[in-house]
Amino acid sequence: KKIIIAIDGFSSTGKSTIAKLLAKKYNYIYVDTGAMYRAVTLFAKQNNFVGKSFLDKENLVSSLNEISLTFQFNEKLGFAEMFLNGLNVEKEIRTLEISQLVSKVSAISAVRKKLVAEQQLMGEDSGIVMDGRDIGTVVFPGAELKLFMTASADKRATRRYKELIDRGDKVDFKDILFNVEERDRIDSTREDSPLLKANDAIEFDNSDMGITEQFERICALVDA
Ligand code: C5P
Repeated sequence: KKIIIAIDGFSSTGKSTIAKLLAKKYNYIYVDTGAMYRAVTLFAKQNNFVGKSFLDKENLVSSLNEISLTFQFNEKLGFAEMFLNGLNVEKEIRTLEISQLVSKVSAISAVRKKLVAEQQLMGEDSGIVMDGRDIGTVVFPGAELKLFMTASADKRATRRYKELIDRGDKVDFKDILFNVEERDRIDSTREDSPLLKANDAIEFDNSDMGITEQFERICALVDA
């Protein structure tokens, strides 16, 4: 039987790595909801609705109906890429700059309302693994399997730093560490759907556990 797997947790805890492995093994659809919040943030930045020191909530909210978000599966990569109004934005949404703005945008209720509705539609045919911050609590409170990932801030920043360096971005480790902690702080304290572990979620701390071991444990839960 195909189920809904909800993966939540702090930034850079390896949620998407686990989600992609699960999707591949069980032939499920993987939805990266962080990519959707990042794409809305890119749109907001392009239209000057958000910057380092400002947020024009009103105009962003009234433009939300101009935003079309779609995923397109890339055979070569083995996962779906994010498209904003028909353009592939997979690369632009992963920059440190977008990471520094996204938590301001994702705290806006109207933004969450739009994205949550779209995410719930994608789950209509089950056999889905979705990762984010509010999947087990808000998007799919009835998900059959809920995971909550944690890891030390230092481990998480090290992972994110490596990802950005590998793709050729020039970044400082201390900025990445600051961003990871700052995003967790904002995401956990916002009024609407704060990041929090669902009561029935199973917690995984992977500070000292390799992905392979963790993946095996999670597969045992899916198969149970
Ligand atoms: O998962 P990722 O780190 O790409 O998410 C980027 C940001 O999007 C998070 O820091 C959070 O502000 C927001 N987000 C959210 N709810 C989700 C997924 C992401 O608020 N379900």
